[in-house]
Amino acid sequence: MKKFGLLLLVCLSLIGLFACTSKKRADKKLNAVATNSIIADITKNIAGDKINLHSIVPVGRDPHEYEPLAEDVKKTSQADVIFYNGINLENGGQAWFTKLVKNAGKKADKDYFAVSDGIKTIYLEGAKEKGKEDPHAWLNLENGIIYAKNIMKRLSEKDPKNKRYYQKNFQVYSAKLEKLHQTAKEKISRIPAEKKMIVTSEGCFKYFSQAYDIPSAYIWEINTEEEGTPNQIKNLVEKLRKKQVPALFVESSVDERPMKTVSKDTGLPIAAKIFTDSIAKKGQAGDSYYAMMKWNIDKITAGLSQ
Ligand SMILES: [Zn+2]
Repeated sequence: MKKFGLLLLVCLSLIGLFACTSKKRADKKLNAVATNSIIADITKNIAGDKINLHSIVPVGRDPHEYEPLAEDVKKTSQADVIFYNGINLENGGQAWFTKLVKNAGKKADKDYFAVSDGIKTIYLEGAKEKGKEDPHAWLNLENGIIYAKNIMKRLSEKDPKNKRYYQKNFQVYSAKLEKLHQTAKEKISRIPAEKKMIVTSEGCFKYFSQAYDIPSAYIWEINTEEEGTPNQIKNLVEKLRKKQVPALFVESSVDERPMKTVSKDTGLPIAAKIFTDSIAKKGQAGDSYYAMMKWNIDKITAGLSQ
C-alpha cells in the first residue's frame, strides 16, 4: 500500500509537471523582430498582442545604415521570426542586417523573411541587377498590402493556433490600406500638371511616383551614397530652374541642411517634413504606416497645389 501511494504520488507529480509545461508552451508568445518602425507597425496591425515584438532601427533614424546595439543582437538571436525589407535596404551599403543575422546563426526563409517578397522591383537609375534595387517599395500602398500579406503568412506558419486571428486582421488592415491607395490616386491626379513633382533629399519616391503618377526629383539617389555634395545640390537646383514646381519636401529621417541649401538657392519653400524611411514618434502625426502615408499624401497635395 505504501508502495502504491508513492507510485501514485510520482504519477500525479509527473502529470502536474506535464500539464504545467504544456500550459507554458500554449501561453508562450512568438518572439518577433522587425528591422524598422514601418515593418514593425505593419506587423503590429496583423499580430496585435499575440506576439512579442522588437523593432531595431529607432524612429527617425536611417534604416539603410545602422549599427545594431547589444539589445538588437540579443533579441535577434532569441527571435522565432525576423522581418526585414530586403531589396537593398538593410542588406545594401554596409549590409548591417546581413551581418546581424549571420552572427545570430539565423537562416534565410527559415528564421528571417523579406517582407517585400513578390513586389515588382524598381531599380536605381541606370541599374538592373541584384544589389541595385530601390528599396522604398512600401511607399506604394499596394506594396504595403503585399508586406502585410507576407507577414500574415509567416506568422500563421510559425504560430498556427492564431492563424485565423492574423488572417482576420489582415483582411481589415488591407482594406483600409486599399482605400487610402484609391484616395491617393484621386487626390494626386488633381494637382496641376506643371506643378506635379515631388522634390526630396533622397530619391526614395520611385515606387510612389509610379503608383500615383507623379514625377520626383532628389539631391542624392539613395542614403548609402554621399548625401548632399555641392555637385548633387547644383544638379537639382539647375533642374528646378527649368520647372514650375512650387515647393520642396524634406524627410524626417535625413539631415535637412542640404534641402535648406536647395531652398535658399532656388527661393522655393520647404512645404513640409514628410515620412519616408520611418514613421513618426508615438503620439505625433504620422506615427503608423497608415498615418505616415496619409500625412505624405495630404502634405504633398497641399504643398504642390499652392
Ligand atoms: Zn531611404
